[in-house]
Amino acid sequence: MASDLFNSFMTGPDERGRFGDFGGRFVSETLMPLILELEACYEHAKTDPDFWAEMEYLWKHYVGRPSPLYFAERLTERLGGAKVYMKRDELNHTGAHKINNVLGQIILARRMGKSRIIAETGAGQHGVATATVCARFGLKCVVYMGAHDVERQAPNVFRMRLLGAEVVPVTSGRGTLKDAMNDALRDWVTNVRDTFYCIGTVAGPHPYPAMVRDFQSIIGREAREQMQEAEGRLPDTLVAAIGGGSNAMGLFYPFLDDKDVAIIGVEAGGHGVDDRMEHCASIAGGRPGVLHGNRTYLLQDDDGQILEGHSISAGLDYPGIGPEHSWLHETGRATYVAITDSEALAAFQLCCETEGIIPALEPAHALAHVARIAPDLPRDHIICMNLCGRGDKDIFTVARHLGFDMKS
Ligand SMILES: *Cc1c(COP(=O)(O)O)cnc(C)c1O
Repeated sequence: MASDLFNSFMTGPDERGRFGDFGGRFVSETLMPLILELEACYEHAKTDPDFWAEMEYLWKHYVGRPSPLYFAERLTERLGGAKVYMKRDELNHTGAHKINNVLGQIILARRMGKSRIIAETGAGQHGVATATVCARFGLKCVVYMGAHDVERQAPNVFRMRLLGAEVVPVTSGRGTLKDAMNDALRDWVTNVRDTFYCIGTVAGPHPYPAMVRDFQSIIGREAREQMQEAEGRLPDTLVAAIGGGSNAMGLFYPFLDDKDVAIIGVEAGGHGVDDRMEHCASIAGGRPGVLHGNRTYLLQDDDGQILEGHSISAGLDYPGIGPEHSWLHETGRATYVAITDSEALAAFQLCCETEGIIPALEPAHALAHVARIAPDLPRDHIICMNLCGRGDKDIFTVARHLGFDMKS
């Protein structure tokens, strides 16, 4: 495989922000100085022990890290093969992995003297995490959200408002996450002086994909250590769900150079990966193009128009994938598969019944793939999956699909 060409998978991106043919910095001249300032500040912070000391303190006392690595015993018995462990990032404050990254970016913003934070959000999870940390530090917070999503995700809109954020419904384009991200980039250019753009996944122009990955890598670093403690060795297989790919990169990154560890990213297969394009599987059903300042695999039609896609899970509803994943796919270091809405729903219920854990629909996709492969693997094979979010936000969606009337 092509990966034999590389001594290490952990050195990227290069100085132009490229992971092989992917990533980079495709932005307007007006945005360039902001991006360069951010890059310089991040490069400096990265080697500053004070920066990491502040992160460590807040990860521990505010977020609740380290999250447990949990042996899912009943699930393992039910599947009858490989041993399944769950990295419990759903136990974080605000219920998902998003806050790991938000903390890093907000601490950076404060060091840069920025007082106004902007963010994009789709389902609202990144918006809630950003509003939360802004409240914690007394910063002004503006969240761009597609008008369509504002309607669909009312509880998260209210949460953000309770936390003091201004939520701006975006009506351009089709009023979804892609358009919200475009409007946030426009806001940034207009309000250069006091504004910091906090991106929620491993996308956007360099240095965002690498920076967000670095902040989320706390997941994989902890998992490595915890697995050594529990089993005295590394896992055989890692599995994580992919929207933009930040929880997955966070788990995968510290294991990239462990050649014996298989790495699997699970995309949202929606109604199935075929010509109808009713899915969000950028790698399985898309091709390379440029969106939001980087080159990566995207859902697009024959004319290169970006498609919206579909997934039962609002958090996986992004038409692209982080550029590092595109590179890991092309080098063969990681494998990408798709799981449909109905497979994710079945895994959601399996997790509730066997482990007493209500997962978010996003990691239910990862679990569905675990349920697919575990039965055929030997009992001494260890799988570690990222349970990156809890399901409170999804119970209405699940109730509707199961035909359960919440009002009765
Ligand atoms: C936002 C979100 C995702 C998708 O984002 P990634 O960047 O791919 O991690 C997945 N799971 C949960 C719980 C989320 O909130």
